[in-house]
Amino acid sequence: MPLGFAHHHLLGIRQLSRQDIERIFEQAEHFLPYCRSAMYRLPDLRGRTVVLAFFEPSTRTRVSFELAARRLSADVVSFQAAGSSLAKGESLLDTLETLESMGVDAVVVRHRDSGVVWFLQRFLRCSIINAGDGQHEHPTQALLDGFTLWKRFGSLEGLRVCIIGDILHSRVARSNIELLSRFGAEVGICGPGTLIPQQAEQSWKVRRFFVLEDALQWAQAVIVLRLQRERMESGLIPSLQEYHRFYGLTRERLARAPHLCLLHPGPTNYGVELTREVAASPQSLIRQQVHYGVAIRMAVLKLVVGDRIAR
Ligand code: ASP
Repeated sequence: MPLGFAHHHLLGIRQLSRQDIERIFEQAEHFLPYCRSAMYRLPDLRGRTVVLAFFEPSTRTRVSFELAARRLSADVVSFQAAGSSLAKGESLLDTLETLESMGVDAVVVRHRDSGVVWFLQRFLRCSIINAGDGQHEHPTQALLDGFTLWKRFGSLEGLRVCIIGDILHSRVARSNIELLSRFGAEVGICGPGTLIPQQAEQSWKVRRFFVLEDALQWAQAVIVLRLQRERMESGLIPSLQEYHRFYGLTRERLARAPHLCLLHPGPTNYGVELTREVAASPQSLIRQQVHYGVAIRMAVLKLVVGDRIAR
């Protein structure tokens, strides 16, 4: 394995080279046998402290980071925004500087403001890991999605992947488009016009599908997204039923594309972007994604925090 990982933070996929991503995949592959059970505790982060600072709801990402840090023997602290001095008017930066002064080596941050991690890394010396900033980036989700596809297909080069749904508000879509394009995959997008950013085709070099059936015939894999209603202005879709009728992945639609496998970052809203049957079908890689997520986050923590020369 080559020496030294060039990054002391993980802010977004945009800052990573293809080699960096391959390095993370190789490291995750190595950790896979150790990520399922607390029987194994590897020493890579012994003596390091990782704070999980989630200012937006999360199940998968937060628990997955916590398990990953523990499997590598780190001390893990979950910062609870509710009940903290943020409620007394303390700024986010002051809060994190206070935590850093207590000897923290890394902060895993999720926040509703796009770009917040870029701001924080200018002031903090500890490592910052982006666990989702607004509608901007969610790098570890894209890494685990890319890893899932890489394990399934053996390569991402030339792979046809279509992202379906609320592209406009999705940090998962943005990070995945960056990552997949870096590897020479062909990326498609499909969704209602109100949920696709203007100029998407030109600025991302993606292929736009207007009809779901066409996208399903073209793609080898689809990444199905939740409608991010917490970030949406009202009136972007007529109704959830209408959305499901045109863009929902159902058993009938999937049956007409037997070659296809599907991913979803979670949480799923059954009866909207897909049905429960589809999520549980043999074509679904959703459970694999969650499993690989722990190995990917172990790899990121090891390379970004564990291999960092002590401050
Ligand atoms: N869990 C993903 C995220 O945090 C996707 C979603 O919430 O729909 O962006």
